[in-house]
Amino acid sequence: MKGLYIHIPFCLSKCLYCDFNSYAGKLALASPYVSAVLKEAEKFSGSRVDTVYIGGGTPTALPLSEIERLICGIRDIFDIDKAAEFTVEMNPKTADREYLKTLKEIGVNRISIGAQSFNDDILKRIGRAHKASDIYSAAETCHAAGIENYSLDLMFSLPGQTMKDWTDTLENALKCEPKHISAYGLKIEHGTPFYKKGVKPLSEELDREMYHFAAEFFAENGFIQYEISNFALKGRESLHNLKYWRCEEYFGLGAGAHGYITDSGKKVRSANVKPIEEYILKINENGTAAEEKNILTKEDILTEKIIMGLRLTEGIPQELVSSEKAALYIKNGFMERVESNIRFTLKGFDVSNTILSDLI
Ligand code: SF4
Repeated sequence: MKGLYIHIPFCLSKCLYCDFNSYAGKLALASPYVSAVLKEAEKFSGSRVDTVYIGGGTPTALPLSEIERLICGIRDIFDIDKAAEFTVEMNPKTADREYLKTLKEIGVNRISIGAQSFNDDILKRIGRAHKASDIYSAAETCHAAGIENYSLDLMFSLPGQTMKDWTDTLENALKCEPKHISAYGLKIEHGTPFYKKGVKPLSEELDREMYHFAAEFFAENGFIQYEISNFALKGRESLHNLKYWRCEEYFGLGAGAHGYITDSGKKVRSANVKPIEEYILKINENGTAAEEKNILTKEDILTEKIIMGLRLTEGIPQELVSSEKAALYIKNGFMERVESNIRFTLKGFDVSNTILSDLI
């Protein structure tokens, strides 16, 4: 079955490292935006999905009445499986018990909390709108609302961050009892305030030290690494994100959203226009806001399967890559066989981009 991604491009403020399609100060557009997303959804009326992911941006920046209208509308338009995983991303600053209770009542069963760090100085330095205390409150609010399946997003390699800061963040994260943790290293992306200010990333050595420490720490605490940056208690992997990495199909709704579906027998990747105002205008005028549509060739599909599949610790069928090259990487400890699949080792993940460009 397919997944469904809905993009909510509103944020309380813009983080200094962020290059996502998100905007601060535009919440006045929330209502026409939700109406436009529901109109776009009509194209896929009756389609069956078994994962829904409302991401952003900050979906919980939407007024409760608007997110409720969105979710109830989506439930009417799509045929959502009874056992579907239904995730909403939340900024800790926006955690509110009534809000989450309502989300639970209308079928949300997973929350992804953008924690990033438990160090208030670091949170301030990277421009986050919340403090560490808000993360604890957000986890408690999820419990109180009866949504036990929540994930924390963490970041390492942040400006001025030490190993001690990172290990403290990992320990504090576990105190929140998440079922899933994502841990991403900061990348300084073009066009962001960090890029413009010339902020430099931490050294490659420290970045790798933090990553390896996290992988070992999570393993010691019962989390299974199932993807290069994602760790979960058994059975709590993100089913929606697994669809991306397994190159399965999903609908994408909203400003800047991407979709991947079969259309007239062809595999098509599409992307919507990014600015909120343009998205609303295009949907209202034409019912679509796609600015890109790429039909994938067989070679494209194979390349994607290798690149995305090798992010996963389940790996990919060995026959997808050259057996000679695979044997060399296995011999040097960068890859390993698991049954009929091949996958990266932790050492291999460190240099995965280099190896991938050799394999494809
Ligand atoms: S909350 Fe997320 S989407 Fe919004 S500005 Fe910060 S990093 Fe970007």
